[in-house]
Amino acid sequence: MLWKKEKPKITWKITRGCLSLIFESAKATYPKEFAALLRVYPEAKDTISELVLLPGTISGDAHAIFRMHMRPIDFSIVGTIHSHPSTSWFPSRADLQLFRKYGRIHIIVAYPFNENTWGAYDYNGSSVEVKVI
Ligand code: ZN
Repeated sequence: MLWKKEKPKITWKITRGCLSLIFESAKATYPKEFAALLRVYPEAKDTISELVLLPGTISGDAHAIFRMHMRPIDFSIVGTIHSHPSTSWFPSRADLQLFRKYGRIHIIVAYPFNENTWGAYDYNGSSVEVKVI
């Protein structure tokens, strides 16, 4: 199943607290991968405010985790976040396959996991701007 382009273009936002939690979790899991789902505020569907942790997150294989647990169950879940133990926050081939299957917004954080080492992508792997609020 492919995700169609949004009709009114969404300007994604993420809360500073949620982004900090991503960095801290990625650091704590390093050198393994950290993986979670992204959830928005019910009243502001373009603002990522929460992480939904998946069982087996510490197993270190983000793609296996997503394969096992991703289901379109909850419309407040808009996409995924995972960490790269490397210094590249660009999507791998496996990431692109994942992005096309599930979710509208995907964040990748790379070592050393800070404001300067992350990126966001749409279902197609194109860069998306996410405003930190
Ligand atoms: Zn990846």
